[in-house]
Amino acid sequence: MSDDAHREHPDHLLADRIEALLADPRYRDDPLREPLAELHAAFTDQLRQMDRIARIADRYQAAERQRGERYALDYRGQIRRLEKIVRISDRYQGMLRDLNERLQWLSSRDVLTGLPNRRYTLQRLNEEYARAQRSERPFSIILGDVDHFKAINDSLGHEAGDQALAAVAARLAETVRDYDVCARWGGEEFLVLLPDTALTAAREGTERLRAHVADEPFVIGETTRQITLSFGVGSYAPGEPLNALIKRVDDALYVAKRGGRNRVAVAAPASN
Ligand code: GH3
Ligand code: MG
Ligand code: MG
Repeated sequence: MSDDAHREHPDHLLADRIEALLADPRYRDDPLREPLAELHAAFTDQLRQMDRIARIADRYQAAERQRGERYALDYRGQIRRLEKIVRISDRYQGMLRDLNERLQWLSSRDVLTGLPNRRYTLQRLNEEYARAQRSERPFSIILGDVDHFKAINDSLGHEAGDQALAAVAARLAETVRDYDVCARWGGEEFLVLLPDTALTAAREGTERLRAHVADEPFVIGETTRQITLSFGVGSYAPGEPLNALIKRVDDALYVAKRGGRNRVAVAAPASN
């Protein structure tokens, strides 16, 4: 309560009047004057005490309000900290996921050529094999082996041999369709998995691969060199085990080698 409001309060107006009466010399000998003075003193004292209590209550309320505001501030601070932790944790999880994907990708690749490696390709072959069994749709496999690669190593050195292999791999990979899997199967041997592809189309695709490598010489360091591959190609025969199919295609590759290299041999039909 402000001092002005305090003074205008009806109790204070009455007190002022009583003070005026007590101070008036006309009533100095009035027998009521003394008890009235005592009553006034007691009343004023009570008023003062009530004022004090009111002020304490005001202060208490203000303190409570401040405390409430401080709690609200604290609470908002906590929420902000939690949100930050959640954001960090989200980012961390995202990084882990990326890292995991990257590790998975790396573990499926051959380091020298960047092509899918044998392990990953075997997995894809098994998937395609299972799918072909379910759907009775064909798929084909190509095996290609670099001709006389030992001679390249011997004449240019192993490092140049590596370069040559990577260049051959890149040329093979750019020739296949997006959904084909062009993999490094072994040393200088490549496997191409052709999903949903029957023998005629697979044979044509293999011929394209052969020509694309053979027709344009490779630049390896200081030298230019023609590199060729021999190929075997075959299609899945219903009921045939995957190993048997790979064996048939490998046999066809051997036929292409024996036949003079830089050529395509089609795998003999499954004998069952
Ligand atoms: P063919 O036409 O009968 O296939 O003859 P080739 O010389 O290619 O066959 P061979 O199997 O006798 O030799 C393959 C060579 O490939 C031997 C091996 O050292 C080499 N080779 C395999 N992997 C790599 C590699 O990653 N880098 C290099 N530089 N050479 C490799
Ligand atoms: Mg070879
Ligand atoms: Mg070989």
